[in-house]
Amino acid sequence: SGSGKFFVGGNWKCNGTKDSITKLVSDLNSAKLESDVGILQPLFFNPYVVVAPPFVYLDQVTSSLTDRIEVSAQNSWIGKGGAFTGEISVEQLKDIGCKWVILGHSERRHVIGEDDQFIGKKAAFALNEGLGVIACIGELLEEREAGKTFDVCFQQLKAFADVVPSWDNIVIAYEPVWAIGTGKVATPQQAQEVHVAVRDWLKKNVSEEVASKTRIIYGGSVNGSNCGELAKEEDIDGFLVGGASLKGPEFATIVNSVT
Ligand code: PEP
Repeated sequence: SGSGKFFVGGNWKCNGTKDSITKLVSDLNSAKLESDVGILQPLFFNPYVVVAPPFVYLDQVTSSLTDRIEVSAQNSWIGKGGAFTGEISVEQLKDIGCKWVILGHSERRHVIGEDDQFIGKKAAFALNEGLGVIACIGELLEEREAGKTFDVCFQQLKAFADVVPSWDNIVIAYEPVWAIGTGKVATPQQAQEVHVAVRDWLKKNVSEEVASKTRIIYGGSVNGSNCGELAKEEDIDGFLVGGASLKGPEFATIVNSVT
C-alpha cells in the first residue's frame, strides 16, 4: 500500500479456549507493533489493528487486550435485539466495547447461506449504530475460472453500496474463496488486479473520494512469509488474516509488514 492507512484484522473464527485465548492475548500485548512508533501516537495508529474473537470470548478479550488493538465481532444481528434465539445484537456488542463487525465472510455466505440482501441489512444496521464494518467480498474458484471474478465482486459490493448510510466506517476485505484456509494465497498481481477493479467500481458508483480513502484489504492464506510481497502492492491497504492470526508473533509480523 502506498496510502499510509494500513489495516490488519485477525479473524479467529470458531477457534480457541479460555486458556489458549489468554495466551494469545498475552502474546499480542507484548508484541512489538509498528503502531508503537511515531510521535503522533496514540492518535494515529498506523497500522490500525483489530482482532475478532468468538462471541463467548469477546468480553474476556476486550477487558484484557492492549488498547492498541481493537476488538471486532464475527457477526451481528440485522436489527434491534429481542426474540431472536441464538443471535447477538449490535447494542450488545457496543455494550461490551466491541467496535467492529465482520460481515459477508465467505463462511457465512457459503457455509451458513447468508445472501447479499441479508448481509447488506446487517451492514446498514451496524453502521447506523456506530460500529465499523469489515465488508467481505470474493469469488469462488469456479467463478474465477469462468472469468466472473469482477462480476461477482461488483454484485456483492453493490449489495453493500445500495444500503449503507456512509462509507466512513467500512473496510472492504477482498477474500477469494479459493484462497481462504487453503494455503493457496493469491499472487500479489491477482490481488492487486481485483483491488484496482474494486476501487474503480467505487469511483464510478459511489464517489472519487470514497474510492481513494476506503481501505481495501486482502484475505486468504496470508502468513508471515507472504505478507511482505502483497503489502508492496499499491492498492492493498492491509490484510484480513484467519489461521495465522491465532499465532501472536506471526500476526505481529503481518501487522508490521505495513509499507
Ligand atoms: C479469513 O477467514 O478471513 C481468512 C483469510 O482465513 P485464512 O487466513 O486462514 O485463509
